[in-house]
Amino acid sequence: MHGADDPILQDLNEAQYQAVTHDRGPLLILAGAGSGKTRAITRRIAWLVRARSVFPSRILAVTFTNKAAAEMRERVSRLLGGEDAPRWMGTFHSICLRLLRQHAERLGYSRDFVVYDDDDTESALRAVLKRMDLPREGVRAFASYIDGLKNEGILEPPDPRSPRERVQAEVYAAYQAELKANGAMDFGDLLLLALRLMEEHEDVRRDIQERFDHVLVDEFQDTNVVQYRLLQWVAARHQNLCVVGDDDQSIYSWRGARVENILEFTDDYPDAKVVTLGANYRSRDPIMHAASRVISFNRRRHGKELSAMRGPGEPVRVHASLNEQHEAAWVVREIVSHGEDGVDLSRMAIFYRTNAQSRAFEDALRARRIPYRVVGGMKFYQRKEVKDVLAYLRLLVNPADSLSLERVFNVPPRGIGAATIEKARARIQGPEDSLLMALARVGDETGGATGKRVRAFIEMLTGLALQARELNAEDIVRQTLDQTGLLEFMNRDESPEGQSRVENVQELLASVRQFQEASGQTDLRSWLDRVALVQPLDEGGEGQAVNLMTVHAAKGLEFECVFVCGLEQGLFPMGGRRDRHAAPVDATRDRAALEEERRLMYVAMTRARDWLYLSYASTRMRWGQVEAGRPSMFLTELPRDSVRVV
Ligand code: ATP
Ligand code: MG
Repeated sequence: MHGADDPILQDLNEAQYQAVTHDRGPLLILAGAGSGKTRAITRRIAWLVRARSVFPSRILAVTFTNKAAAEMRERVSRLLGGEDAPRWMGTFHSICLRLLRQHAERLGYSRDFVVYDDDDTESALRAVLKRMDLPREGVRAFASYIDGLKNEGILEPPDPRSPRERVQAEVYAAYQAELKANGAMDFGDLLLLALRLMEEHEDVRRDIQERFDHVLVDEFQDTNVVQYRLLQWVAARHQNLCVVGDDDQSIYSWRGARVENILEFTDDYPDAKVVTLGANYRSRDPIMHAASRVISFNRRRHGKELSAMRGPGEPVRVHASLNEQHEAAWVVREIVSHGEDGVDLSRMAIFYRTNAQSRAFEDALRARRIPYRVVGGMKFYQRKEVKDVLAYLRLLVNPADSLSLERVFNVPPRGIGAATIEKARARIQGPEDSLLMALARVGDETGGATGKRVRAFIEMLTGLALQARELNAEDIVRQTLDQTGLLEFMNRDESPEGQSRVENVQELLASVRQFQEASGQTDLRSWLDRVALVQPLDEGGEGQAVNLMTVHAAKGLEFECVFVCGLEQGLFPMGGRRDRHAAPVDATRDRAALEEERRLMYVAMTRARDWLYLSYASTRMRWGQVEAGRPSMFLTELPRDSVRVV
């Protein structure tokens, strides 16, 4: 062991020590999960400052999520004895934003440009489609097309080969112009325009290159073309580029991540020092053994052996439930029992493959008043699409609810503008009147297309409200999703985010059905009351709370106790069913997709330090229907001797 009493060098193995104290030039740390890569990179930053007298402001350190960046900053600052961590430490987006703030006018933007979130982006795109006389229903599809190009680093699409491609290219160009006219950038722009800034403006490039002496990147396996090119430019002067990652944990190919960036790093930097770390310090033997076995089924990988350093422990437990509700109840029972054994709630995590699955766990945790937080996402009943549906439903039982009406009058877009609502608002006559009644009057008095649209909207709502008196809650939710056009609208967006929204609104059906079964109450109002009542419990803060997250959000983190849920074919691994516009079967792509799912499974399993639970349900309500599920193929890949079925 080196430097036993130096906090920067203590508890590093030989390979970690080599990485931390590497002098200059490119450095690649390619190693498996839990092998101390993040430890090595944070120690290296501190070592550069302390032992090499590098000014913290001359170090650029990048990682993938805000949570990981915050953790890195905190660790480095602790190693430096409370001294400030490097200022240029953050996610790619945050760092690009800072560079652009300083130089945006070189690209023809004001320095005060605004950053558009997904909603803003969509409105801008909708304005473009309207101007081009294109159906606004295409908005989500265009948005994901544009995002895809930006991830690939393409600002001017190649020559169109079909009329469809021509339209896409025109929309892209018009959208960029719209953003620029608004003095706005979207998320993709932050990366892409930062790159453009470097590539096209030599003086700026030189300025940025002069500013940093070291560039370090964690989770490098998930960088895309744009991110990698950026890093290469920044480090071009000195080549002090340290990249850290694990090809087995590459899980963002759907966002343009290229695992080749790490596997072929030494092609770009032939004199790079390569360090591999061979010991896992995180997980007990059975967990390590099980995870290594599962990932060994991937063919396209850079195989590596990891020895488990934490010693023997509890076997991995596999559990089957009848349905998702029982699954959630079982998980919560186990959590309570670990809590009684002294494990902090914040050291336990529930992972799932799709966002919508959080709902069952949230309901079960709330019922037992256990605080929780959703990491890297919103709590279920606060997600925009869920709130939209709830607003419709509230409006059905209470037509005077003007807040809900204002939320949904044009969701999905139906050509009723803010001006029309404004007009209705001005027409409200006293407390007995309501925005909805005023809007109905405006509809009756207005001619042309607008009047027609308003009348159709009011008629739809009235019809649904009448049905709500007869039908049970589940059926009325179904009707609402259908008649408002929400579901159909969302279904048109086939991006992973779009599908996640569809699943979330469909998950409401599972929620109502379970409520009906458990309470014996079948009216909409009772269910809405329950949803409303459970919400104030939400404020968990940063304290003691169970962590809920998708596997994607779990990358880089570790917990004492991990539950990986919904291990069923089609869900995890995802895929199979629901190829509505089924593309011709592509065996290579299918295999690649399956291998990415298996890497996700590997990420999930390797988050656990002491206890790992794998869970599946034999039926599950998905896409609004109860489906029978088969256990995930990943379960059959587990080694018998490390697993116990409970
Ligand atoms: P991942 O691939 O999941 O990102 P990683 O390779 O970045 O993992 P770390 O998070 O750095 O791994 O380390 C995993 C755990 O092992 C941490 O709890 C860390 O403190 C501990 N650890 C790392 N190196 C050592 C070491 N040499 N001695 C003792 N513990 C270590
Ligand atoms: Mg790490």
